Amino acid sequence: MSVIEVKVPLMTQQKRKFGFETRMLHAGHIPDPVTGARAAPIYQTTSYVFEDTDKAAQLFELKQYGNIYTRINNPTTAIFEERVASLENATGAVATASGMAAQFATMMTLLEPGDEIVSSSHLYGGTKTQFTHTFKKLGVTAHFVDPTDLEAWDKAWTPKVKAFYGETIGNPQGSILDIEAVAAIAHRRGVPLIVDSTFATPYLCRPMDWGADIVVHSATKFIGGHGSSIAGVVVDSGKFDFSTYPTIAAPDPAYHDLRFYETFGHYGFLMKTRAVTLRDTGAALSPFNAFLLIQGLETLSVRMDRHVQNALAVAKFLKAHPKVAWVAYAGLEDSPYHALAQKYTPRGPGAVFTFSLKSSNARLAGKQFIESLHVFSHLANIGDVRSLVIHPASTTHQQLSEEELIEAGIDAGMIRLSIGLETTEDLLWDLDQALQQTSA
Ligand SMILES: *Cc1c(COP(=O)(O)O)cnc(C)c1O
Repeated sequence: MSVIEVKVPLMTQQKRKFGFETRMLHAGHIPDPVTGARAAPIYQTTSYVFEDTDKAAQLFELKQYGNIYTRINNPTTAIFEERVASLENATGAVATASGMAAQFATMMTLLEPGDEIVSSSHLYGGTKTQFTHTFKKLGVTAHFVDPTDLEAWDKAWTPKVKAFYGETIGNPQGSILDIEAVAAIAHRRGVPLIVDSTFATPYLCRPMDWGADIVVHSATKFIGGHGSSIAGVVVDSGKFDFSTYPTIAAPDPAYHDLRFYETFGHYGFLMKTRAVTLRDTGAALSPFNAFLLIQGLETLSVRMDRHVQNALAVAKFLKAHPKVAWVAYAGLEDSPYHALAQKYTPRGPGAVFTFSLKSSNARLAGKQFIESLHVFSHLANIGDVRSLVIHPASTTHQQLSEEELIEAGIDAGMIRLSIGLETTEDLLWDLDQALQQTSA
């Protein structure tokens, strides 16, 4: 079989390794050769006319790489995919309709019924539910471990474990995953480490530089950045050895017994994710949303610098406030995760963190606090340019049992903030006046 033909923009053919900001603006895209349009065009189309029947057959057999149907690939989405891959120092990427779909596609590509995974317990609530309940229906068992206990990762391993999973910045404790150490354990056991790097974005941390094999993002958050589109992306380093990994190396009956590793080498995992998983689950990204995400990526570094600057100012302010019991932000020097944050996120450990109100009735105080805010929006999202606030125990983590809540490190009075780009003093003013209205 022929090697896949990847169109490489002129700029990326240069020997020079361009800087992060330059790649944010240019990677994966050249001005449209027909119209000269400089911004990425939105190819709002479901399908693509084939040159002739032979060419069509080659596309379907994956002997040639090209556009068939937007559920599988789209030129606007491809710009987004290549740009994210470039920023993560990866081999390639597959975009999905949401962050949940990115995780699901990754696992559907890798796992079979009877398989197991080892996952950090410091997870986004939806991920915890997906791994626990939906995966169970598919015959997959997830073992959860305290991510900071390195021995626990190894102890949870069984011969049926096919992947390790964790979040760069764990939700909602703000714990920092020791990616290098966990990747070493995963690799000793012959399995890939998958990292959800949503809270960090490729600007603050590139997990693959520390040994992670696959990165997933909810691009809904900081990558899109403006709270306007739901999206996800699966990114592959291309470095994990899938030559003996059953689902990637063995003949795949879902694609006329194609052997993805043998045929595509280090593109094997991504090709299967696209050609089988995306084809069959249908969780494709819309081209219009891909365009909005490209817009988001173009200002990622500028926004993230400002997000972390505001987040640190807010964290310090809250820490010194008499009505605040604790603040869990790895950017604060007394955080148990400060040293790991300096190693993995030297520009700052993101802009999402939690704190708790000092009150004899934490639930009531939380409600009073949230309802007194003017600048912060009370909603279920993070990573918007605007500052956001939520009470996890009653919302994002509401499906978890009391036991699961404790395991996930959530207390009833805990508030989660996602710090936006507003004037710093306005954020401090808003928090201060709301704190004054909460009962002690
Ligand atoms: C939001 C989020 C997800 C899920 O992403 P959606 O785009 O909402 O499907 C997964 N992981 C983390 C860390 C998130 O914040």
